[in-house]
Amino acid sequence: MGEGKKYPRIVVRPPGPKARALLERDSAVVSPSYVRFYPLVVESAKGCIIRDVDGNEYIDFNAGIAVMNVGHCHPKVVEAIRAQAGKLLHYSHTDFYYEESVLLAERLCEITPGKHKKRVFFCNSGTESVEAAIKLSRWHTRRQLFLAYIGAFHGRTLGSLSFTASKPVQRRYFHPLVPGVIHVPYPYCFRCPFGLERPDCGFWCVDFIEEWVLEKYVPPEEVAAIVFEPIQGEGGYVPPPDGYFQRLKKLCDKHSILMVDDEVQAGMGRTGRWFAIEHWGVVPDVICMAKAIASGLPLGAIVAREELMDWEPGSHATTFGGNPVACRAALAVIDIIESEGLLRNAEEQGNYIMKRMRELQEECEIIGDVRGKGLMIGVEFVKPGGRKEPGVEEVKEVMMRSWRRGVAVITAGKCTLRIAPPLTITRDLVDAALEIIEDCIREVDKEARAKG
Ligand code: PLP
Repeated sequence: MGEGKKYPRIVVRPPGPKARALLERDSAVVSPSYVRFYPLVVESAKGCIIRDVDGNEYIDFNAGIAVMNVGHCHPKVVEAIRAQAGKLLHYSHTDFYYEESVLLAERLCEITPGKHKKRVFFCNSGTESVEAAIKLSRWHTRRQLFLAYIGAFHGRTLGSLSFTASKPVQRRYFHPLVPGVIHVPYPYCFRCPFGLERPDCGFWCVDFIEEWVLEKYVPPEEVAAIVFEPIQGEGGYVPPPDGYFQRLKKLCDKHSILMVDDEVQAGMGRTGRWFAIEHWGVVPDVICMAKAIASGLPLGAIVAREELMDWEPGSHATTFGGNPVACRAALAVIDIIESEGLLRNAEEQGNYIMKRMRELQEECEIIGDVRGKGLMIGVEFVKPGGRKEPGVEEVKEVMMRSWRRGVAVITAGKCTLRIAPPLTITRDLVDAALEIIEDCIREVDKEARAKG
């Protein structure tokens, strides 16, 4: 029997009794600062299927927020972790040496874009990888300022938060942040911040940086780097138009501004390339990564051009970064992505999902835009009527109904459904999940039109 016939399997309307009991305990002791998309209480997971505490089994269409790229508890990852856990759990890569972090650094230098020599700094998370990139950029260039994007998400520690700009709640009452970060509009063509359209716009969004930022008030010789997501993630799964990054690179080269590419969400094969920036043939100076790198174990890294990583001993380090167990898991992840052909699968399944969503767009007014690369897909919802009014309630309804029927899918930005299953997803499971999502979209579309 195909997996798509077996899953999803909803045995009790979620949240079931065991889930409800845990929600109550959670609400008594856990920080209320977390955003929970819906009351899903996960008990276990395998491959692309997650099981809640009441026995419901869902198709995972968000991969634990773009972390479980090789699927949950992949046997090779589990084995690598088990073997390493019995051998060496920790000995501070910061202060001594062991082989696991060197092996991983060698592999990361191989799979990142560019044939030049590189060096790797290890940390524990996405936000820490951004912190490292910021500090390295300042150290190397001796410049203080940065460019970043409106709509960006780079993490929540105070340094990276100074670059994050996708929702006011992320920054409210946390000011003052790190000074000297200048935000410019991201090339979000569906809602162009300049009200222009491709291709007539002539990439005004790049010229704007030159003519209205660098020529008016930000001396380019003081800008260390521009920090960007190759596809905005939390901001709404927004890929830039083809040609954008090539234009941006010219601008950066002109002023010797470093390109810091935050691949925390888009990297490790998610878009059908090892790193999303490869879609546009631009080689960044620094790449930030975390999330999927170690299949759920905390690990982050930056990979930088060798000549950039010239900071002195003692200038930056962290106790747990490059933990040997996490490194072994990451080595397994890289092998699995290669040996199971997951880049190709991400591209194939992603193209198929986007095709199905575009077909549905013909029928449903509430689908405004379908976009993405590989398995990093955004479906932006609008209100009926063709005015691109954000479909905030509509996307939420689609998400909640899909979840109750067995597809764990979430949103990004204001009104975008983000589709990001593990890269191991089969056509069978894609079909089973899409059938449910499509049904929910049709229902919500009908109701929205009836409301007028
Ligand atoms: N950068 C990007 C692009 C992200 O999507 C995220 C998290 O979603 C981060 C940085 C922060 O990563 P972490 O939550 O591991 O600190």
